[in-house]
Parts: sequence; structure tokens; C-alpha cells
Amino acid sequence: MILTNPTSIDLDIGAIRQQFPILNRIVKNKPLVYFDNAATTQKPQSVIDAISHYYSNYNANIHRGVHSLAEEATAAYEASRIAVQQFIGAAFSEEVIFTTGTTEGINLVAYAWGRANIVAGDEILISGMEHHSNIVPWQILCNEKNAILKVIPVLDNGELSLIDYHNLLGPKTKMVAIVQVSNALGTVNPVKSIIKAAHQVGAVVLIDGAQSAVHLDIDVQDMDCDFFVFSGHKLYGPTGIGILYGKKNILESMPVFQGGGEMIKEVTFERTTYNELPYKYEAGTPNIAGAIALKAALDFLNDLGKDNIRKHEAALLKYATAQLEIIPGLTIIGKAREKVSLVSFIIKGVHPQDIGVLLDNQGIAVRTGHHCTQPLMERFDIAGTVRASFAVYNTLAEIDVLIAGLWKALKMLS
Ligand code: PMP
Repeated sequence: MILTNPTSIDLDIGAIRQQFPILNRIVKNKPLVYFDNAATTQKPQSVIDAISHYYSNYNANIHRGVHSLAEEATAAYEASRIAVQQFIGAAFSEEVIFTTGTTEGINLVAYAWGRANIVAGDEILISGMEHHSNIVPWQILCNEKNAILKVIPVLDNGELSLIDYHNLLGPKTKMVAIVQVSNALGTVNPVKSIIKAAHQVGAVVLIDGAQSAVHLDIDVQDMDCDFFVFSGHKLYGPTGIGILYGKKNILESMPVFQGGGEMIKEVTFERTTYNELPYKYEAGTPNIAGAIALKAALDFLNDLGKDNIRKHEAALLKYATAQLEIIPGLTIIGKAREKVSLVSFIIKGVHPQDIGVLLDNQGIAVRTGHHCTQPLMERFDIAGTVRASFAVYNTLAEIDVLIAGLWKALKMLS
């Protein structure tokens, strides 16, 4: 786990939980225990209010209107861009592009950057622990361009084989697209050194921050990545909003992605000139409410402090790992030295889905299956895992409920 800050404070988890109305839910006659945070986090009242406040008070299309509502909506939308810029340490606000999520961000880069820069024989390097959304867009590009997709192997403990990575890098490597934190294993990859090595061979680097942005401090300038993508819904924000960060000079030199309103400067039937960054990549009416509410989510995270959140989540991870390891036949998949608060496991002779259903009957939400990482599951020779992923509002008492629920499920299945 990430080092905890010695000056960190203990969060008042009870008070934090009160900010999340959904945590009062009763599921199957039991209080909800929500451990599916890596799929999507729950939303604090401030995020829910930001959406409803926008629609109740200043719903208007942005940028084009001169009326007051349009100006208010535009100001809130652009304030969110600045909040994201600060959240990830970007040098310029125009390097922050609103997307629908991580998936769209990766597809945008694969389409716009990829089609302009990849030629036959070029190599694109990904890792064996990528989410399907950081595999398939590159596969499509490679198929179109006759380029080659290469894969960094994953070690038995769930870390990347860095020796293999360095051997795979070469003059033909044009793109390295790597996940910072694995959604299936929890592994934190050493992206800074990965990026440095990629740059030494002249490759461009995209970091999939879908799982990292909520847990780790993100500083894209220090990291020196060329692209960084993440989704709002995995960091207490709404679905349908995400971010593509790109270095200004690269974004400027890239061709456009989608054509339409907002991304143009001037259109005639003969030719079109394109808008400046960031609007060049924001065709059409965006998810205005989502962008505005994303700022509320970042405010929520900043107010608590990521150091404090990490300290709490590290305690959850440590306790859950120790308790799970006591269960006979249980194997944790992914034992990297650096992990976020996520445990994936299998139990000998039991299908993960059966465990998921029996836990749901007790009000416990976990994810089961391949977690959109089928090649990784194949690497471990398993069909899937049970994954419990923790957020700041989870408690040690909830982990006790999970462990008791697992014992009960196993009894029923035996
Ligand atoms: N990458 C990783 C590591 C993820 O965990 C996810 C979501 N499970 C994605 C990409 C895709 O994110 P989204 O569905 O929000 O676009």
C-alpha cells in the first residue's frame, strides 16, 4: 500500500457515511455493505445536489449563449475544468478535455493520435493486466495499420515484469499504454519509471488512471505522461463524465476526433477550420451536469485529503487480507508489494458467481467474474475472481460482515 503521511488524521467515518444517502439502503432485509467501489463508487449528497441544482436553477447550453443562464452554466463547466487541472497537476487548463469516461479517452487517443502516428510495423506496448478498454482500441488500430501489439507479462504476485518491459521496448515502440492501478488485482504499477524508459526510446505514453485517480496523488507533470485518462464515477462523481489529459503540444498536433458543433471555428461546404484546445476535442453538447458535479466530487476528495483516505483504506485492506487468508481454500489473486484497497480472491471448488449471489442474499455487494480483464484471468488460469474493493466510507465492521457472510456461503455450498 501507499505510504501513509505521518501528519495524517483519523477521519470521522460515521460522519462521512452520513453524506451518502445510499448507504442507508436495506438490501435483502440487511443493511447494504457496498464493496463494489472499483466498479463505481457511491455519490455524496454534494454531488447529487450539484446535478439537481444545475437542472433546477441554471440549465442551459454552454459557450454559445449570451443569456444569464448560459453564462452561469458555462462558468460552472469551466470552473470544473480548472478543478480537474489542479487535481491532476496539469500545466494548462486546455490540456483537460471532458469525455464520457476512461473508455472514450483511450478511444480518442487511439483514433486521433493513432491514425496520424502509427504505420505498418510500428509497435504498441500494453500490459497483461489491462482492462479491455485499454486493449481493444489498440487492437483495432493495429489491425487497421498492420502494427504490432506487444504485451508486458504479469508475474505470479501480480506485478509487471519490468525486466520484460525493458526488453520489449525498442525503436519501433511508438505507444506504451499502461494501467496505473489494476482493477482486478489492485497492483500499483511504477508508472514514473515506465514512462521514463518509454521516452528514452521515443515512445508516447498513455496512463489509464481509472482506478488510480481516486486513491493516489496524481501529478501529470511530475509523472511526465503524455496522456492520462480517468472516469468521474470511480471517484465519487457521476457516470458519463471523464477526463482526457494530454500534453498541449501533442493535442495541438493531433487531428480531430469527432466532428460537429463546438469543435469548429468556421464551416463552409468546402472546408472547415477547427477550434482551439480544449474545444477541438469536445464536439457536441457535453454532459454539462456531469462536468459540474465532477467538481463537487473533487471538492469532496480534497476536503478529506487523499493522505487521510489512504490511511483509512490501508487499514481496511490489511484487515480484509488477514481475515480472508484464514478461510480454508481461499487464494488471493494479486499480492503486489504496492496495492490499493482491493482484494481479489478465489475459493477452491467454488464458482465466484455462486459466492457473489450468496453474499448478495446477505446484502453484501461484491463483484465477481473477469472484471473486463479476460487475458489476465487466462494468465492466472482462472475463470474469474470475487473482488471486494473498499472506499473511504467502508468500515472494519463491514469487513467482519463480509467474512461472516463468506463462512455462511461456504457452509451452504458444502
Ligand atoms: N480501465 C480500468 C482500469 C478500469 O477499472 C475501468 C472501469 N472498470 C476502465 C478502464 C473503463 O472505465 P469506464 O467504464 O468508466 O470508461
